Amino acid sequence: MSGKRALVVGSGAGGAVCAFELATAGWDVTVIEEGGAFALEDYGQSAERAMALLYRHRGMTPLLGANPIAYVEGCCVGGSTEINSGFWRRTPDATLDEWATDYDLRGASAGDLEPHFVWAEAALHVGLHAGKWPTSTALFAHGATTLGWAHHEVPRIAPNCRGTNRCASGCPTGAKQGVSQSLLPRAQAAGARLLTHARVHQIHGDAPHAQRVEILRHEPGQPPQTEWLTADAVFLACGATETPALLRRSGIHHNIGDSLQIHPMLKVLAEFPSSVGGLSSVLPLVQITEFAPDISLGGSYLTPGHAAVLLADNWPQGRDVMTRLDRVAAYYVAVRGRGHGSVRPATADATRSTLRYAMAPQDVELLTQGLRHLARVLFAAGALAVHTGVTSMPTLTSAQHAERALHAPLRADSLNLSTVHAFASCPIGERQAKTAANSFGKLWGWQNLILADASCLPSSPGVNPQATVMALARRNVRAWISDHAATR
Ligand SMILES: Cc1cc2nc3c(=O)[nH]c(=O)nc-3n(C[C@H](O)[C@H](O)[C@H](O)COP(=O)(O)OP(=O)(O)OC[C@H]3O[C@@H](n4cnc5c(N)ncnc54)[C@H](O)[C@@H]3O)c2cc1C
Repeated sequence: MSGKRALVVGSGAGGAVCAFELATAGWDVTVIEEGGAFALEDYGQSAERAMALLYRHRGMTPLLGANPIAYVEGCCVGGSTEINSGFWRRTPDATLDEWATDYDLRGASAGDLEPHFVWAEAALHVGLHAGKWPTSTALFAHGATTLGWAHHEVPRIAPNCRGTNRCASGCPTGAKQGVSQSLLPRAQAAGARLLTHARVHQIHGDAPHAQRVEILRHEPGQPPQTEWLTADAVFLACGATETPALLRRSGIHHNIGDSLQIHPMLKVLAEFPSSVGGLSSVLPLVQITEFAPDISLGGSYLTPGHAAVLLADNWPQGRDVMTRLDRVAAYYVAVRGRGHGSVRPATADATRSTLRYAMAPQDVELLTQGLRHLARVLFAAGALAVHTGVTSMPTLTSAQHAERALHAPLRADSLNLSTVHAFASCPIGERQAKTAANSFGKLWGWQNLILADASCLPSSPGVNPQATVMALARRNVRAWISDHAATR
C-alpha cells in the first residue's frame, strides 16, 4: 500500500483522525495546515495574544445576517480542539435516527458509531473531573436538583485538569488534550508529515479525479510562495466554514456551503452572595438536559474581557459588576438552531469567506424559553442577580422577575448571540438532492475527495459536536481505506 499519497487538509478534530488512520494503514500522508504549530509554553496567554496565535482572523469571523452572531474557530495545528472546552458528548440516538430518515445516512446508527466513540475516548483520555467540583459547578447542580431537572457532569478531554481557566487560550498544562497533544504526534510517529503555514487555495483535477492541490505558503518572515502537491486522495478537514469555501474556490458546488447550521447561544452572568471562583477555576462542568435536544443549559468560560463584553450593552447597570467578578460565573443557553446559513469565498480576498446565518423564528422562541429556564435554575442555585446581555433587559433579580421579563419571545435583534458550534455545510447521506457526498463522505461526482470534518454532519447534532466529528471522520476514512485495499 505504501506509495499511495493522501493529503489531509486541516489538522483539527477530523484531520487528526484521518492522518492517524491513513498513516497507520501505510499511506504516505501529508497534513496541510494553514495555521502555525505551537508548544505548551505558547499556550495560556492573554486573550489578545491567544487570538492572534490560535484563532482564525484573530477571532473575527462573524456570521452575518439580520442578527449578526459572533463565531470563532481555531487556525493552528490542532484546529479548534486547541481552544475548545473539551466537553465530550456522543451523538444522541434521536439525532442519528433523524439523519437516517431525513438524509438516508447509512452505516451511522448508534451501534455503527459505538466502536469509533470507544476508540476516541480511549485515545483522548475522556473522563470526569478528577478533583472536587468547583463552586460554580456545584451551585448549578444544586439548582437543577432543587427543581428536579435532569442534569449531569459532562465528561471532558482533560483527564488531569488543574482548573487554570485557560481553555480558550490553549491549555498551558497540556491537561486538555487538543489533538496536537494526542493524535497528531501518533500520526507523525506513524510517518505522517505536517506542513504548517500552508493554506490550500484550490483543488485541481478533472472530475471524477482530483489530482493536485495548490498551496499558499506563508511562513513568518518569508515571502509568500505557491506550491503544488499531487495526491491519490484528498481528505477535507478544514472545518464547517473553510471546507465549503475551499470546494467552492475549486469550482465544486453541489450542495456545498448552502446549509450551514449552528447552535445559537446566549450567555449570562450569575452573581452569587460570595466567591464562586468563576475566574480562577475550570468552567462549570454540569449540563442540564431536561429540555434536550432543543435547549441545553450549561457553563461557560469566563474572563474579565468576556464579562465586559456581556455587560457592555447595559453598561450603567453592569459597570459595578466588574468590581465583583469573584462572585460571578458564566452560564449559557444554547439551542438546536433551525435556521440556515451559507458559506461563500469572499470575492475580494482569497483568504476570507463570507458566512451568513438567518435565525428561524423558532430559534428565537427557544432561546427565550431557555433563558427563562436558565434564570430559574440560577435563582434556585442561590444567585442574587442574573445579567443577561440582552439589549435593554434590566438585570434579573428573582425567578418571578425573570418569568415576567421573559413571558413573550424576545426581539431577535435584542439578542447578543455567539456560537462556537458550526456544522452541516456539506451534508452527507444517500439523498443526492440534499447532500454534498455519499454516506461515507465521498463527494458526489468525485472518486477521491472525501469529507472528514464538521462540514459533513447532516444537520445540527444538538450536543457539543467534537465527538460526532471524530466518529464520522474515522468511519469515513476507514471506509475509504478498506475500499481501497479491497480493489487493489
Ligand atoms: C472556543 C471553542 C469551544 C468549543 N468547545 C467545544 C467543546 O467543549 N466540546 C465540543 O464537542 N466541541 C467544542 N467546540 C467545537 C469543536 O472544537 C469543533 O466542532 C471541532 O474541532 C471541529 O473539527 P473540524 O475538524 O471540523 O475543524 P477544526 O478542528 O476547526 O480544524 C480545522 C483546521 O483546518 C485548518 N484549515 C482551514 N482551512 C484550511 C485550508 N484551506 N488549508 C489548510 N488548512 C486549513 C484550520 O486552520 C484548522 O486548523 C468548540 C469550538 C470552539 C472554537
